[in-house]
Amino acid sequence: MPQSRDLYEILGVPRNASQEDLRKAYLKLAHKYHPDKTGGDKAAEDKLKEVNAAYDVLKNPDKRAQYDQFGSTDGQGPFSGGGFGGGFDAPFEDFFDMFFGQGGGRRRSAARPGSDLEFRLGINLKEAAFGAKKRIRFNRMETCGDCRGSGAAPGSQPETCSQCQGTGQVRVAHGFFSVTRTCPQCRGAGRMVSKPCRNCSGAGQVKTLRELLVDVPAGVDTGSRVRYAGEGEAGSGGGPRGDLYILIEVAPHELFARDSTTLLCEVPISFLQAAVGDTIKVPTLDGEEELRIPPGAQTGTELRLRGRGMPDLRGYRQGDLVIRLRVETPARLSRRQRDLLKEFEDQGDAKCNPLKQEFQERVRRSRD
Ligand SMILES: [Zn+2]
Ligand SMILES: [Zn+2]
Repeated sequence: MPQSRDLYEILGVPRNASQEDLRKAYLKLAHKYHPDKTGGDKAAEDKLKEVNAAYDVLKNPDKRAQYDQFGSTDGQGPFSGGGFGGGFDAPFEDFFDMFFGQGGGRRRSAARPGSDLEFRLGINLKEAAFGAKKRIRFNRMETCGDCRGSGAAPGSQPETCSQCQGTGQVRVAHGFFSVTRTCPQCRGAGRMVSKPCRNCSGAGQVKTLRELLVDVPAGVDTGSRVRYAGEGEAGSGGGPRGDLYILIEVAPHELFARDSTTLLCEVPISFLQAAVGDTIKVPTLDGEEELRIPPGAQTGTELRLRGRGMPDLRGYRQGDLVIRLRVETPARLSRRQRDLLKEFEDQGDAKCNPLKQEFQERVRRSRD
């Protein structure tokens, strides 16, 4: 219901009282009318309800701005589900609009939700794997503190638009009919500011730097979006804030290629390691781990380190780290090395190089 008494009057503070003064006044009254003090007096109980309701509106800067502008507030945005729209006859709806400044849909422009914002956040692969807290700074529109969003210079009030008498719409004759248009003078706001606030030039909002500690969840990938509800731009006329979307960009890693939750790392090993086997240290995201290379490993042999890949964003499973071996053929040999390898080759038989052996068999067969 529309408040019958001025909210500032209820709390006994001037209209330009600071939030801190409001709080102090509220605490004093809440104390005064508390049932413990008054022994359950009915009048005091009603007073306390009134005080609570008044403070509930004024403690919230957005609601306070809306109250200052429209003399009332229902504290909800335009998406609250209709409220007073629809069922009422037009004059009655106007009546409600006068009090609520929104809701009926007739002056839609009174309450506008703030825009969503997008912030591109670059992180590295390790941060994507383990999650990270990142401090970000961005500009967003905030309700102007000087005029509390009304756009009118402190001490002055927005006035009812003379052209539309505050409805935000005007009737224009159009042949035999008259059509309703958005009022050109106030652009549908229903209010005009004759003395604009200097801080915001009458816009009711000012660009403000916002710092936010972002919690990047483990498992994000490039293109992941993290939503921060209500961290977008401030709404106007009591409209809700927009949301902030953090768009993740994961930088390529020096060692690891990523495929969803699997990490792949190509590790070169020597011809000898490949032939006789070895235990080597391989890098992981958070250090290194020992890996046994089986004798007779080939280029392309893949060895799997379970659970050393990326986590699933929903926390279902942890991916693997795949080590792909690459056998490096010795190059730029000294004479002595060449002689040793020749001697090695002369010792060899078909068992050592089954692929080569088998291929030569096929070549021979194809000639028959
Ligand atoms: Zn301002
Ligand atoms: Zn107007």
